[in-house]
Amino acid sequence: MTTRQHFIIGVDLGGTNIVVGALSDTGDRQIGMRSEPTIAERGVEVVVERMVSMVEQTIEAVLRESGGTRDDVLGVGIGAPGPLDRDRGLVVVAPNLGWRDFPLRDVIADRVRLPATLDNDANCATLGEWWQGAARGARHVVGLTIGTGIGGGIIIDGRLHHGISDVAGEIGHTTIDVNGRYCRCGNYGCLEAYASGPAIAQRALEALERDEISSLPRMVDGDLTRLTAATVYEAAKTGDALARELVRDTATFLGAGIANLLNVFNPDVVVIAGGVTQAGEPLFDPLRAEVRRRAFRPAVDACRIVPGELPGTAGVVGAVATFKQSLGRD
Ligand SMILES: [Zn+2]
Repeated sequence: MTTRQHFIIGVDLGGTNIVVGALSDTGDRQIGMRSEPTIAERGVEVVVERMVSMVEQTIEAVLRESGGTRDDVLGVGIGAPGPLDRDRGLVVVAPNLGWRDFPLRDVIADRVRLPATLDNDANCATLGEWWQGAARGARHVVGLTIGTGIGGGIIIDGRLHHGISDVAGEIGHTTIDVNGRYCRCGNYGCLEAYASGPAIAQRALEALERDEISSLPRMVDGDLTRLTAATVYEAAKTGDALARELVRDTATFLGAGIANLLNVFNPDVVVIAGGVTQAGEPLFDPLRAEVRRRAFRPAVDACRIVPGELPGTAGVVGAVATFKQSLGRD
């Protein structure tokens, strides 16, 4: 006798890409992971249509590869940019998508005729790393996803901590300098205003305007508008002094922010995902040193600070995990 395998579809809705895939509810089998551009500029209907068609294609792949029936697909876990209202399944505001109070969970559930859950994308990425990635087996986890912004997720005793109104985990918008840089959230001195991809590029630009010598302008053929954080990491690897200083400063900012989190949450793992991990050990070494300088010793000694192990798929894996937890199967 063979046991029937059950599957859950995960959807990671980002401002640039939508990633969809299926996992068995036990997590040991992954089917049909695929990514397509979000095309947010074409409006909410087009984005929803694309999500629905990607989910349907994934279900077909599951049925084909598992030999099961549609009844074996339990539902859809969706990760989306916040802030969200999880009780009502709403995306409250998503500036990158131009959405406001959009009932994403129920729209998708109705269209694919399956139950669905909705959670914050960075929460999902953190839960994905906990279930299958760098934070496997950990009890308390803090996750940071560093890209265009800095998203975060907090896991306490193996469950996401959402807070009373789904705001918990907005690590990018914690203050590291009371009189600091303006952040796009309207506050000043947020971690995101220093250590997100665009913030790193902006700091590079400002340093070059001070006439600092660097290989960076040459790497973008003199067009400084093309300068990105990735250019900075690349230059740092070739020994460019300015780029190395920019990476070290990024490590200091992140280290200060993460030291705060160690003293508040005392996690066993901090997992850092996103483009910034391309910087590698030249970022992680000074970052860990900064945390050691600032946080309490027992918190530092008990904590591993590691890069994510599921680039591109942590959000989908975690969206599946949030759906699974909603069924009480964890
Ligand atoms: Zn902010």
